[in-house]
Amino acid sequence: MTKAEREKRRRMRQLIHGIIYVLAVIGAVTVIVLMVSALKSLINTKRVVTEAPEITEELLTPNEYSRPQIALEEVNGIVIHYTANPGTTAENNRSYFEGLATSGETYASSHFIVGIDGEVIQCVPLTEIAYASNERNSDTISIECCHEDESGKFSDDTYATLVHLTAYLMGQYDLEIDDVIRHYDVTGKDCPKYFVEHEDAWTQFKEDVETYIRKNGEKVSK
Ligand SMILES: [Zn+2]
Repeated sequence: MTKAEREKRRRMRQLIHGIIYVLAVIGAVTVIVLMVSALKSLINTKRVVTEAPEITEELLTPNEYSRPQIALEEVNGIVIHYTANPGTTAENNRSYFEGLATSGETYASSHFIVGIDGEVIQCVPLTEIAYASNERNSDTISIECCHEDESGKFSDDTYATLVHLTAYLMGQYDLEIDDVIRHYDVTGKDCPKYFVEHEDAWTQFKEDVETYIRKNGEKVSK
C-alpha cells in the first residue's frame, strides 16, 4: 500500500468516526428531549373519574332542620359518615332527614346516603350545605353510609360505591386524597365507627380510592 493510499484510508476512518460521533450526539439529544417532554406531561396531567355512580336524586323538602338552603360556596373536602343505625336502608335514612322538617327534633342531613346494596340517594344539592359535619358543613360534601350491624363495617357493595363516589367527587372539585376526611377528624366523634376504630381500614380506603382513580380516571391536563 502506498503512502497516499494509507493516508486516504486514515482520512476515511476519521470521517466514519466523525459521522458516528455526530449521530450519537443527535441520538442522545433526542432521548433527552423525549424524556423531558414525557416528564412534563406526567407532571402536568392527572387522572379524573368523570363517570358518577348511579345516583337517585330525592331532594329533601326545603326546611330549617335538614335543608336550610344555605349556599355551599366552596368545597374543600369530602366527609365520610356512618348512619349509626344498623340495618336501616338509604331510603329509611332519607325519610328520617325529611321527617325533621315536621318533628324539628334536631338539625341533620347529608348530601348523599349510600345504602347497603350500594345504592346512592342524594338528599341535598351540591350547591347547598347539609347538616352533617359541624364546623365543616360550610365547605364540605357529606356522605352517610348505611351498615348492617353494630360494628359499623360497610358491606362490600356500600364500600365499592363509596370508593367510586368519593373518587368522582374528588375529580369534580379538584381535591386530593387528604381532603377526604372522617367526621371524627372534624369533631372527634366515633364516626364512621369502623374507620375510626380501625385506622388501617381507613388508610386502606384512601388507597382504594387512589387506585380507583388511577385505573378508571381519564387523563386531563392540570
Ligand atoms: Zn358523622
